[in-house]
Amino acid sequence: MAEAGQLCVVCTEPLTETSNADCMRCGQPFHLNRRNDIPGKDCGNAWINDASMSLEFACEVCLSLPEEEPEAEFSLDDVLDLDEAAEYAGWHPEQLQRAADAGQVAHRKTSRGIYLFRRGDLPHLP
Ligand SMILES: [Zn+2]
Ligand SMILES: [Zn+2]
Repeated sequence: MAEAGQLCVVCTEPLTETSNADCMRCGQPFHLNRRNDIPGKDCGNAWINDASMSLEFACEVCLSLPEEEPEAEFSLDDVLDLDEAAEYAGWHPEQLQRAADAGQVAHRKTSRGIYLFRRGDLPHLP
């Protein structure tokens, strides 16, 4: 497990007591602020996997890699990008993006502006 003092694979600074994690993709330690109530450094992102109901996280290095390879090994089958989610829901991507921006569909927007949806959150057209 990542511990305070280990060097972050992203920014190479030491991890802190409240900002640390092991990347689930490359296995390297990185800054992930585990506290909402205090400011902390984030060198990656975390999200909830609906299938396993567990927190998953990855460092900025892995998140910035082109997503050429399928992510099945990370059990991210239920995390869909805008096009996939739109196809799944039977919507146009623009329609889904508007609904997401309007707060009508649960989603997460990455720091790079990519929309991510969870399969279970998506509305279904009859
Ligand atoms: Zn860092
Ligand atoms: Zn990583």
